[in-house]
Amino acid sequence: MPSESEEPESVRWRPWPCENCRGGATLLDYLLGRHEAGGEIPGDSEDEVIDAMIARERAWVVDWVESCEHTAERSDSLARLDEGSEHIVYSRLAVKKSSS
Ligand SMILES: [Zn+2]
Repeated sequence: MPSESEEPESVRWRPWPCENCRGGATLLDYLLGRHEAGGEIPGDSEDEVIDAMIARERAWVVDWVESCEHTAERSDSLARLDEGSEHIVYSRLAVKKSSS
């Protein structure tokens, strides 16, 4: 649980593309399609290949999100609850907004 003194963080994000733009496809569908068209991933070791694949997929996720012009970037002040190697958990409920 967050402590009372924890400062909220300013968090910005873009939602996934709207239903019309993604045509029922999920992010996984999109990434698999890009992999099929993307060719060989360079790397001298398994770790290098994985790192290159992650970098590629990060860029593809941005491409996918930006393919929709019907969503806008959002931002909010959220309290950080926890984090893992690939995610951060925020809570809107723990944030006490000042009136200034
Ligand atoms: Zn759209």
